[in-house]
Amino acid sequence: MKSQYRVVVIGGGVVGASVLYHLAKFGWSDVVMLERRRLASGSSWHAAGGIHALNADPNMAALQSYTIDLLSEIEKESGQNIGLHMTGGLTLAGTPERWEWLQANYRIFQSIGIDDCELLSAEEAQKRCPIMSTDGVLGAMWADREGYIDTTGTVQAYATAAKKRGAEYYEETKVEELIQTDDGWQVVTDKGTITCEHVVNAAGLWAKQVGRMAGVELPVSPLKHHYLITDTVPEVAAADFEMPMTVDLEGFTYMRQDQKGVLVGIYEVDHEHWAMDGAPWNYGEELFQEQLDRIENELTLGFERYPSIQNVGIKTWVNGAFTFAPDGNPLVGPVPGKRGYWSACAVMAGFLQGGGVGKTLAEWMIHGEPEADAWPMDVARFGDFAQNKRYIRETTGQFYSRRFVMTYPNEQLPAGRPLKMAPAHDAMTEAGCKWGVSWDLEVPLYFAPKGFEETPTLKRSNAHEIVAEECKTIREGVGLMDISGFSRFEVRGPNAEVWLDKVMASKLPAPGRARLAPMLGENGRLKGDLTVLNWGDGTWWIMGSYYLRAWHMRWFDDHMMDGVDIRDLGEEYCGFGLVGPKSQAVIEKLAEQDISGLKFMGCGDFDIGLVRARVARMSVTGEKGYEINCRYGDHIKLRRMLLEAGDDEGIRECGFNAMLSTRLEKSFGIWSAEFTQLYTPGMTGMDRWIDWDKDFVGKQAAMAERDGNGPAQVQVTLEVDALDADASGYEPIWAGDERVGFVTSGGYGHYTGKSLAMALVDRDKAAPGTELSVHVVGVERPARVIAPSPYDPQGKAMRG
Ligand SMILES: Cc1cc2nc3c(=O)[nH]c(=O)nc-3n(C[C@H](O)[C@H](O)[C@H](O)COP(=O)(O)OP(=O)(O)OC[C@H]3O[C@@H](n4cnc5c(N)ncnc54)[C@H](O)[C@@H]3O)c2cc1C
Repeated sequence: MKSQYRVVVIGGGVVGASVLYHLAKFGWSDVVMLERRRLASGSSWHAAGGIHALNADPNMAALQSYTIDLLSEIEKESGQNIGLHMTGGLTLAGTPERWEWLQANYRIFQSIGIDDCELLSAEEAQKRCPIMSTDGVLGAMWADREGYIDTTGTVQAYATAAKKRGAEYYEETKVEELIQTDDGWQVVTDKGTITCEHVVNAAGLWAKQVGRMAGVELPVSPLKHHYLITDTVPEVAAADFEMPMTVDLEGFTYMRQDQKGVLVGIYEVDHEHWAMDGAPWNYGEELFQEQLDRIENELTLGFERYPSIQNVGIKTWVNGAFTFAPDGNPLVGPVPGKRGYWSACAVMAGFLQGGGVGKTLAEWMIHGEPEADAWPMDVARFGDFAQNKRYIRETTGQFYSRRFVMTYPNEQLPAGRPLKMAPAHDAMTEAGCKWGVSWDLEVPLYFAPKGFEETPTLKRSNAHEIVAEECKTIREGVGLMDISGFSRFEVRGPNAEVWLDKVMASKLPAPGRARLAPMLGENGRLKGDLTVLNWGDGTWWIMGSYYLRAWHMRWFDDHMMDGVDIRDLGEEYCGFGLVGPKSQAVIEKLAEQDISGLKFMGCGDFDIGLVRARVARMSVTGEKGYEINCRYGDHIKLRRMLLEAGDDEGIRECGFNAMLSTRLEKSFGIWSAEFTQLYTPGMTGMDRWIDWDKDFVGKQAAMAERDGNGPAQVQVTLEVDALDADASGYEPIWAGDERVGFVTSGGYGHYTGKSLAMALVDRDKAAPGTELSVHVVGVERPARVIAPSPYDPQGKAMRG
């Protein structure tokens, strides 16, 4: 072992070994992996080794797809047998809603290029898995690239392939301390100290402690998990093919063949955390005693699904632990505030996702950006609030026990909530507010009559008419909307303007003005759909999506310059929006200064009744509107005053569902849908805000796009001939049999009375009037490209 490497990877499980392999593969061979015992001494050795394609999150499904393809490659490269059995796999649907969901997901898989799936009837499914009972099964999805591997063989294969490419790894070498230096890290081990530029925490069950060695609190916890392996099952032994990997979602089990018997794994509803502060250092290859009382119900369902295993013995019980983040996705990437410290933790399904995690992390470290949109697994998607132990326990527990439970898009889950509430939260609840959550904050969805409960559904819900009323208020009268759920950053200092001009691709606003400002990465892809406000007193604000607060702050910090002071105002400022043609009449009643001259996209300080507020004349609804930003202590008072002042105008409180419907009618994109870090200005229409005459981050790449052949796909608005459901995102779009794009977001435009979708489609299919079709909840519907902004295309309402 040398005393200096470029990168030290801590942990020789499947994730660390994949990171090592990918770093070496992409050209960094001065890298070492340190393992406290032998390779695969954590979760990795006792995993069930199952690999399957289905994941409700399309980004994670793509990651899994990459990993599955990689497995045979590393086997070949390393010469190490990984025991790959590509049996194909089934996912069973046991309720009508689940069957609908599976059909919808089948189409979404097509959108993201996973084409080896097919839908089967229960009987067809049983032909492929003859040991299963079809009781209660309404249908299934088959995927070719599913099966299982040998777990320790796979870890060894990654490590061996990495070594062949010049990387090193050492077993029986425990990292005990991490010391940050000016240009990297000192990694203190029981075999000596190593100096390096980057450290990667791939410590699996010990990720918490290896985080704490660097002063990092990762939102991660281990949970226990059971599977059993049976003795020989005669029907399995007699078959001339292997049983497929079969996931019974309503039964909470997965099953695969193991020699002549089967392995059945259980996602326990009655879950159990273990070692929330990280596994004990002496935890080795022992397992926990099985806890049959916790899994009785799921076990019964499993035995009913595969009746033949009732007659054979159980050869092995495994009750082991593996780690989860609050949303079940990995925690990957550069840890905010710790230069050179990288996370590759909380990988719940390391054999399924580890390849993609290793690739993403290695690209990020070497090239500064991963190729794919890493947001769903970015360690910066959580803020400090997620370090709270109870938050971790509740959210990881909820994820685990609901792993196979269907979550509807309009369903609100309780874990870790309510956490942060804007001060008027209780008064708004009293007024009927139904809440959703963004990051740590409760955000209003809509206001319903007392006793109203929304039914979880994949289609339009019983809140449809309520939201329609709120949209009408916004379009015809005046609505009051809590806008605490926007991010606000203050930028000041002698170089504030110079810095903003560099990181934003747009012109900067003049004093007293606001401007939409795309922010780009060096690769010319989007990093933000922001609004910059110039208050005219030397302070500037950047406003954007609330849940991106830590993610954007990491970007700002990484691109900082001297003479600039940036502060996240998320704990100081909140506010209300007044939206609708009558909003001016209401605000004029309260403003102590003349606000009638405040033009569209103007901003300034005003006394709104007793509240000192920073007001901007803009609204994402496409109506005339005022965003009234106040200090947290003024939120209750501001709401009360605005409601009183608006009484004569029929003011009504509205929520984010109405905001989303109205913005869709204006073809205004939002982050995580129309805008992601995978898309470019040219694809999304963001290029119209770019100031090509100045220098800005990402200019070279953006110019290459502008001056090249143009993007293959561009953003359009579609009108869908929908019935009782609307598109939501990632549904495939067809021109006849040809797949020509996918939906980025969709919904019902209540005021225009149209089912709308925004979509990325091939350029030759983007002209208004082009007839297409789109799958909505699995059913094909006619759709056509329409001119952008079906409501008020000239933008008279918002400017008026
Ligand atoms: C019962 C069970 C069944 C499972 N089934 C599947 C499945 O079917 N498919 C699937 O994809 N996944 C499955 N998993 C999950 C899978 O095991 C994990 O996702 C995966 O093993 C995580 O790998 P890792 O490398 O992140 O962590 P680990 O395997 O825990 O590896 C971390 C390594 O880091 C080392 N280490 C820690 N601290 C230090 C230090 N300070 N210095 C040096 N070394 C250190 C440890 O010794 C350990 O070897 C299952 C898990 C369990 C428990």
